[in-house]
Amino acid sequence: MSRKSIILPKGRRARAGSPWIFSNEIRMDEAAKAITPGSVVNVRGEDGRAFGTGYFNPKSLIAIRLFSDDCDVAIDRDFFTARLKRALALRDSIYDRPFYRLVHAEGDGLPGLVIDRFDDTLTVQVGTAGMERQIETLIQSLEIVLKPKTIMLRNDAPSRGLEGLESYVKTAKGTGHRIAVEENGTRYIADLAEGQKTGWYYDQRDNRAFIAGFAKGKTVLDAYSYTGGFGILAAKAGAKEVVCLDSSAPALAIAEESARSNGVTVQAVKADVFEELERLKAAGETFDIVLTDPPPFVKSKKDLEPGAKAYRKLARLAADVTAPGGLMMIASCSHNIPQERFAQECAQGLLRAGRRAALIRQSGAGPDHPVHPLLPESAYLKALTYALD
Ligand code: SAH
Repeated sequence: MSRKSIILPKGRRARAGSPWIFSNEIRMDEAAKAITPGSVVNVRGEDGRAFGTGYFNPKSLIAIRLFSDDCDVAIDRDFFTARLKRALALRDSIYDRPFYRLVHAEGDGLPGLVIDRFDDTLTVQVGTAGMERQIETLIQSLEIVLKPKTIMLRNDAPSRGLEGLESYVKTAKGTGHRIAVEENGTRYIADLAEGQKTGWYYDQRDNRAFIAGFAKGKTVLDAYSYTGGFGILAAKAGAKEVVCLDSSAPALAIAEESARSNGVTVQAVKADVFEELERLKAAGETFDIVLTDPPPFVKSKKDLEPGAKAYRKLARLAADVTAPGGLMMIASCSHNIPQERFAQECAQGLLRAGRRAALIRQSGAGPDHPVHPLLPESAYLKALTYALD
């Protein structure tokens, strides 16, 4: 095989089973630097020992992402077809309906790739140069495994810049981008081209169901509501009043339309969450259930301190507008804040709000977001639910 090899002088992480190898762990000589970003390579020790097959980007801090622990594994249509079938079999065993995250990157053995499935429509997000080079092969395999009507490439995540990739959104097959999402027995509307990320956040499915379980007869504030994933389910579960609060007018318009098509009403408020919480607090308004699901406050390691402070403040303000005996949920989708730190900040926020709280549930994303056991970073979603006195 003409495949190039990357040599690991130490290779500790790879030896310990991590699917990531950082640039300071490899021998970055002239030959390595000359390899085209995204090329499939063998990874070997100095003694020739096999560490695996992966793709290499000399420009990225995560220089290699492994597909396999064996060398010379063919990364071709059969390979992708087998991995996709495995991912599909797992979801088929969990969900009755074909609406879920079909591929969750390393958790499904396909680093740099995320695919969300909305019945016969797929949204594909490619995050790395290595996976970008495989798009044609991937699409052929998707045809074999699922024959989708529509494939939308949502290749516009800002992190692509770190891999030297441009940003684009393109329909690879089919037409139409406004679709129905079925989740927790509810039909929502999603806009896959205009919406954020892949257009829908499947990661909160189980948390939405949990919160809805408390909603009957209650008032609910769904802060950072996006298209109403939490709020609409709470309304359907019999909430007395639901406010969806978000800064995006298009997302709120979809939330209202989605609510109507479910025969319920939500009140859409377009505002900055911090400002609106301050206003509600000053007005003495409270809700029985307050949930906050913000965008990532810690986008990179250097944002940890300011981001952590923002979570603390959000927890304080959310507690301020939670009625006595109410429920408060706060979520973080930041890869870069560890669970313990996030929980500490929330605890401090509650303390500053002067509220006694009992943590009743710690949760993350649903099982369609599998985590590679040696890559804890991939467990990005954390949600804490408290019962307040
Ligand atoms: N809870 C949602 C997902 C939230 S995504 C669901 O279940 O689907 C984060 C949302 O925060 C986005 O809709 C974005 O528009 C909104 N957002 C970001 N910054 C904001 C701000 N400062 N104030 C209000 N909303 C904000």
